[in-house]
Amino acid sequence: MQTPDLSISERRADILARIKKTALSKGVDPQSITLTAVSKVQPENRIEDMLAIGQRVYGENRVQEAFERWGERKQQIPDLKLRLIGPLQTNKAEEAVRLFDVIETIDRLKLAQSIAKAVQKTGKNPELFVQVNTGEEDQKAGILPGEVDDFLKQIVSEFSLKISGLMCIPPVDEPAGPHFALLRKIANRNGISKLSMGMSSDFETAIGFGATHVRVGSALFGERIPKA
Ligand SMILES: *Cc1c(COP(=O)(O)O)cnc(C)c1O
Repeated sequence: MQTPDLSISERRADILARIKKTALSKGVDPQSITLTAVSKVQPENRIEDMLAIGQRVYGENRVQEAFERWGERKQQIPDLKLRLIGPLQTNKAEEAVRLFDVIETIDRLKLAQSIAKAVQKTGKNPELFVQVNTGEEDQKAGILPGEVDDFLKQIVSEFSLKISGLMCIPPVDEPAGPHFALLRKIANRNGISKLSMGMSSDFETAIGFGATHVRVGSALFGERIPKA
């Protein structure tokens, strides 16, 4: 079955309206919630459309792909904001620090160390989030919930890096709510205010649990079309 062919602009208006409605129902200022348009694997024409209607915050999960797509645009569009939401290898840390405004996927000390070095070298200072593996899944990146407090302390004491947010990707086969609640609890007790959680299927739930940043891909752009 074909999904209805909504234009990019209609899709975005719909998502923004849903964000607003959910925020207001929770007594939260809708302006305090950032919509990250997850542009990975999306065709260029959709990106152009999305830029044309004013969307400025984008999420990518691979450094190389993000650089190819956004490197030049970053020079041309001063208010463009790029967020890395996929795993980062230490040997790509410098490139990531140069390109991204926010790196959401700090998940080990060695990576924090590489980022600290890259920050010194480049003079760039992206905002940093720690990824938490709330579902304690073997195949998923992120710090285990029981280890986050120590990890945050170590990052500050060893590398003097400031962490401003937490990010999680709940298991696909479980209700997301308890994972969002757990992430917020960890953030609260560590004095962290920003929470990146919620995707196409559950961003409203995430807002209900205090998300400040939602990462929406397919509901915004349409289904990702894998490269042949
Ligand atoms: C791909 C991706 C998203 C967006 O997923 P959709 O279900 O298409 O909204 C969000 N977060 C991360 C980390 C992703 O890799």
